[in-house]
Amino acid sequence: MTVSHWQTDFPRPTEEVDVLVVGAGLIGCAAAYFAHEAGHDVTIVDARDMAHGASGRNAGFMITGLDSYYHRAVERYGEAIVREMWDLSKRSIAFWREIVQKAGDVPFEACGSFLLAESKEEAAELAQAAKALESAGFPAIYHDHDPLGRGYYAAIEQPDDGAVQPVALTRALLRLSEARLVSSNPVYAIAQDQPDMVMVYAEKAIYQARYVMLCTNAYSPFLDGYFEGRIIPTRAQCLVTDPLPERVLESVGYSRYGYMYYRCTFDNRFLIGGARDLFTAEEANTSEDRLNPNVQSALDAYMRQYFPDVTVPVTRRWSGIMGFSVDGLPQVGTLPGKPRVAYAVGFTGHGISLGAMTAQRGIDHLLTGANPGAVAAARLD
Ligand SMILES: Cc1cc2nc3c(=O)[nH]c(=O)nc-3n(C[C@H](O)[C@H](O)[C@H](O)COP(=O)(O)OP(=O)(O)OC[C@H]3O[C@@H](n4cnc5c(N)ncnc54)[C@H](O)[C@@H]3O)c2cc1C
Repeated sequence: MTVSHWQTDFPRPTEEVDVLVVGAGLIGCAAAYFAHEAGHDVTIVDARDMAHGASGRNAGFMITGLDSYYHRAVERYGEAIVREMWDLSKRSIAFWREIVQKAGDVPFEACGSFLLAESKEEAAELAQAAKALESAGFPAIYHDHDPLGRGYYAAIEQPDDGAVQPVALTRALLRLSEARLVSSNPVYAIAQDQPDMVMVYAEKAIYQARYVMLCTNAYSPFLDGYFEGRIIPTRAQCLVTDPLPERVLESVGYSRYGYMYYRCTFDNRFLIGGARDLFTAEEANTSEDRLNPNVQSALDAYMRQYFPDVTVPVTRRWSGIMGFSVDGLPQVGTLPGKPRVAYAVGFTGHGISLGAMTAQRGIDHLLTGANPGAVAAARLD
């Protein structure tokens, strides 16, 4: 979002703050939580409001891992990095579960997940992934048949995965972080001319911050040109039906190499998302938050094929913008020439799976200079 000259052509307050987080999504609120735990006072600013970005529009899956099957990820990144990322993902899910316990008002189900094969080729991929997971010490149960009886070819079952209400989770983190949120307050410029102070220019105020943490994911390239080519905004679409008379799915389901995902909500509606692989030219590299009728029709068709017992009408359709990382791994670092401005972005459609511990590494990096490990953006320099 850009901010015009006219919108800031008024006297505005200048405020001194300790830690300023930009972006009140799941990652920004998690970052605020970790900064608070480290003894800091946190202010969060958002161009819109809490969970109005991807954090309020996702499917709420807590699925362990990256966006590719384990053995394929090893081919791409190497064993050590993939092991670290799977461990980071498991710890992230464990952290969210702790927050669910602490908050007491976040709908969550420890329902496990099924990674499902839609073809014989994908079944062979899952068999290889299961072997690789086992030898790396991550428990996963391989089924050489369709455990759901719906026309899939095979599955990996991950019993520790779950499903959450993502807006309730974000709200709980915000509350537990004791941060002050200033919404409808886009940041348009950031400068660091002194070693221990950052100037952050937002529509409602100018902030003199000791530390700044950017959690702007897909929107990062619009805030700072540094993110151009590093973060690629990518659209995803979902729909949800009326409540069903009976439950059609107990776990969360994820198939076609992750391009399709489905679950039942806590009030027993059927939720399905994905199909972006069929329309990549339209869905990739866009921050336009709109419905794509082609993708929505593909979701309808998928539901008819695999879930013909979902006969109730569709109630709501929506889209959201994900921040894809240029190499598929999250990015944690500081802006060039601005050592007090850190960022944690690039979740590639897996911000719940990977976000908590990435946010923690971002805050540690900002406050103590700790090495972010496999998510260090320095790998891209
Ligand atoms: C349809 C869909 C389904 C998904 N399903 C899943 C899933 O099941 N599991 C999973 O792990 N992940 C899923 N994801 C991905 C997940 O939602 C994201 O990875 C995660 O929400 C990212 O959180 P975030 O806080 O980094 O970004 P966001 O939630 O997008 O928050 C960024 C915030 O920054 C604010 N902002 C941006 N620019 C500025 C600025 N200049 N000034 C002030 N504020 C600014 C925005 O307004 C926004 O509120 C899905 C995403 C979508 C869209």
